[in-house]
Amino acid sequence: MQTEAVTAEFLSLLKDAREQVNYFKELGVEGAEKAAEVTAVKTELAAQTERVSAPAFDAKEVPFPPSEIPAKYPIPSQLSDSLFGDLTAKPARIQKSSESFAEIWADIGDCTRCPLHQRRTNIVNTEGNRNARLMFVGEAPGADEDAQARPFVGRAGQLLTKIIEAIGFKREEVLIGNVNRCRPPANRPPTPEEASMCKPFLLREIAAVQPEVIVVLGNTAMRNLLDLKQGITKVRGQFQDYQGVKVMPTFHPAYLLRDPSKKKETWADLKKVRDYLESTRKQES
Ligand code: URA
Repeated sequence: MQTEAVTAEFLSLLKDAREQVNYFKELGVEGAEKAAEVTAVKTELAAQTERVSAPAFDAKEVPFPPSEIPAKYPIPSQLSDSLFGDLTAKPARIQKSSESFAEIWADIGDCTRCPLHQRRTNIVNTEGNRNARLMFVGEAPGADEDAQARPFVGRAGQLLTKIIEAIGFKREEVLIGNVNRCRPPANRPPTPEEASMCKPFLLREIAAVQPEVIVVLGNTAMRNLLDLKQGITKVRGQFQDYQGVKVMPTFHPAYLLRDPSKKKETWADLKKVRDYLESTRKQES
């Protein structure tokens, strides 16, 4: 490797290491300042930075090659395990399950786990392609869905179908489901208890299909999948992570029917989804 390339790589390594130390410090990780290894890294980094940024830098002066840095100064386990878990790890990819939807639905059975069963006509299961790259998750069935035992078939569903087609998919190519499978009275959002009873079945379907992107429609879907406190208006349009699957929060189509001016933002969010799926398809081919 050329001397400049070695220098650049080494400088970038030093910068990464220094940023990581600062990051731990800013997080207020207990013991960060006391950890001898951290102090050693910081002292060494300061010396290295001074040396390598001097005009007459000579690669031979570097006391250890970049490849030795991690071995020599491992991140202390008390730092990497605390607060946010292992900060160096990529989000764990969801475990692919070999369950079929038929098996999952057999477990749902004639469900009476939550009070929503009392007034339902039908359980509304997830619908669509079991190999889908893209999934949409809504809140719970409305009157039309309850009557037909299919998700998103009413007015909001028709708008969702148009949105799906606008980004180049057919409805039957994607997967469409809800947090809850029974219609709540007067279309109110499911309570956290009701959602917690039903959600595990949705998560099992997600594990079975492993879509590349999940679009969560509105607050209920977003909060149940992502465990976020913020509202959809704040988070929409920004890719999130659910166990290694990209999640795009956007407005619920029922909300768009009430406020069509929000379609513009939804379109912007969905274009990001389309572009991402196009980019991963290109990488594969
Ligand atoms: N709204 C939802 O959230 N889901 C449906 O299936 C229909 C309307």
